[in-house]
Amino acid sequence: MKKLFLPLISLLLTSLSCINAFAQRKTVTNDKTERPRLVVGIVVDQMRWDYLYRFYDKYGKGGFKRLLNQGFSCENTFINYLPSATAVGHTTVYTGSVPSISGIAGNEWVDQLTGRSWYCTEDTLVQSVGSKSAAGKMSPRNLLVSTITDELRLATNFRSKAVGVSIKDRAAILPVGHSATGAFWFDESNGHFVTSSYYMKELPEWVNQFNKKDAAQKMVAGGWKTLNPLNTYTQSTEDNEAWEGLMRGKKTPEFPYDIASLYKDRKGIIRQTPFGNTLTLQFAEAAIDGYELGEDKDTDFLTINCASTDYVGHMFGGNSIEVEDTYLRLDKDLELFFNSLDKKIGNGQYLVFLTADHGSAHAQGFMAENKFPTGFWDTDMLKSLNDLLAKQTGVSNLVLTDVTIGACYQVNFDFKKMDANHLSLDSIKISTLNFLRKQEGILYAVDMDQVAGAPIPSRIKEWMINGYNYKRSGIIQVIPQTGWMPEYSRKGTTHGGWNPYDTHIPLVFMGWKIKPGSTNRTVYMTDIAPTVAAMLHIQMPSGSIGDVITEVTGKSSN
Ligand code: ZN
Ligand code: ZN
Repeated sequence: MKKLFLPLISLLLTSLSCINAFAQRKTVTNDKTERPRLVVGIVVDQMRWDYLYRFYDKYGKGGFKRLLNQGFSCENTFINYLPSATAVGHTTVYTGSVPSISGIAGNEWVDQLTGRSWYCTEDTLVQSVGSKSAAGKMSPRNLLVSTITDELRLATNFRSKAVGVSIKDRAAILPVGHSATGAFWFDESNGHFVTSSYYMKELPEWVNQFNKKDAAQKMVAGGWKTLNPLNTYTQSTEDNEAWEGLMRGKKTPEFPYDIASLYKDRKGIIRQTPFGNTLTLQFAEAAIDGYELGEDKDTDFLTINCASTDYVGHMFGGNSIEVEDTYLRLDKDLELFFNSLDKKIGNGQYLVFLTADHGSAHAQGFMAENKFPTGFWDTDMLKSLNDLLAKQTGVSNLVLTDVTIGACYQVNFDFKKMDANHLSLDSIKISTLNFLRKQEGILYAVDMDQVAGAPIPSRIKEWMINGYNYKRSGIIQVIPQTGWMPEYSRKGTTHGGWNPYDTHIPLVFMGWKIKPGSTNRTVYMTDIAPTVAAMLHIQMPSGSIGDVITEVTGKSSN
């Protein structure tokens, strides 16, 4: 018996260990294809990296602080192209691509073949859904590459859902790419979230329900007062400065703002208040419920843009109480949103990343007051240049647009007119470059055909090349002197340049498989999509030129 018994036990043990090994192998195999239930990308419009720390002591525990303490922060993330403008930022975050390849060359651009100006997401072939206005005549058709959300959809044979949300059309549309389940943005004509017939014939019932609640009106009812007592806003200049812009209907740039009465006449006013972000995040929550995001085993993707930070920044400038208050309120909104993700999806079951589409300079007036180098360009620059070229060639208006169009800082020539008059591009380019280089406040003017040999720092040169799209970018790129701005930002501020204040952005990952930590290694906005692709084990987007941030994926040491 004993003789028989022992082999039986060893057989049993062997088979048990086999089962064990099999189970282990199965777990490992699962690990290779395991994905979070939901990926949430949050892009905070115009958020400079330093805002994470500038207001750190004033943030609560569950918003930005939670991201920094539980997440992994890439402290030196840079935008690696020009122009640092909204449409391009949102595109690059989700494509890993740059204007040269993605085709999204600015918020607007001039088609170099026809001379026609294009808005980045305009589409004359589609209709508004949920509105009688033109707000929905938009689509991602001008985007020439796939997004990370497209790749997720392809990877799961379209079982994954991908939804984009913003109060800005372009920031809802470009992140979720061509195959989106839906993209929704705010229409100021009716105060509703709307979409385009590119995506669907009618609004889903959950969107109608959300619109019916008129959440925006309720949010503005109490006006915009500071969250905390005014004297606690120690990171800002006193209220009511000459360099702050004026909200329409207000006589001074000063708290409190009676938004409720302004909202009655112009629903778009909510964009210029922190409540635009609150509304967006509440709509994002409704989208999670409405589309049942993160509920089945196929990973879903939600892209959220908090755009009010950009509107408030443009209007009041970075050192205003309005901006400080907007970030303190966004921090609270993020805390509520993360808490709701914990409840709906489960803590650790979702992957979230937060970044920005660009930063911004301080207000020009603020810089001047404090003796920093700054100034405004000559407002007659376009006219003077056209006059000069007319004198040389006998042909008027050879330059089509002001160099600031679409925040691109480029010279767009009328090539049709040049051809019709048999003019030489070379001599026109030389005169233009000579003219621009003499202007006060212009650091460089570069012929993009000659950019490789231009005597400027290599990093700026590379970013210019990344941003130059042959068919959609002006052939001459202008770089403003540091701190100099176009006239339209005489009040408040703007962005678009290569400088750290415009291009140094936050990038923090938190949640599924993310170990707390940070790196000071320089990474780029183009690295975000490949990193998410690596974590999800899906193909990176079709125009991606970025690298995986291995400190985030944690795979480098394995
Ligand atoms: Zn922006
Ligand atoms: Zn902006």
